Amino acid sequence: MTVRPRGRFGHSQNPAPRDQGDETGWQRQVLDLARLVGYRLAYHTHDSRRSAAGFPDLVILNPRDGRLVFLELKAERGRTSPEQLAWIAGLQACGQVAEIVKPSDIGLVHALLTGLVDSRMEWEAALLAGLVDSRMEWEAGT
Ligand SMILES: [Mg+2]
Repeated sequence: MTVRPRGRFGHSQNPAPRDQGDETGWQRQVLDLARLVGYRLAYHTHDSRRSAAGFPDLVILNPRDGRLVFLELKAERGRTSPEQLAWIAGLQACGQVAEIVKPSDIGLVHALLTGLVDSRMEWEAALLAGLVDSRMEWEAGT
């Protein structure tokens, strides 16, 4: 039997899925924004392999304002697993602020973190009504 090396460290040489890198940068962006608007506590599962399947990527809280937000982060074209959907829907059913967000949702994330809205549905209604700008309105200081 021949043992073939599979890469420098014996692992598959297949690159990580393309959206993996995007999600890392996206996560940093969300955490930076959370800190900017006053959040001081954030939980992130670094290695989800031994955790409950589908639990959201980020749990961030602002004890001063009593604000708790669960976010499942996705790359722009990332897929959501049934387990991830179940967790987000379950948290929402329990009255929590929980959403699946991709980089183009930065405005929504800001609105969720600041308490402007509690859900994507409210955010979309506010957009339709012209009450909010679609992206980055926080940069304008509103
Ligand atoms: Mg994710």
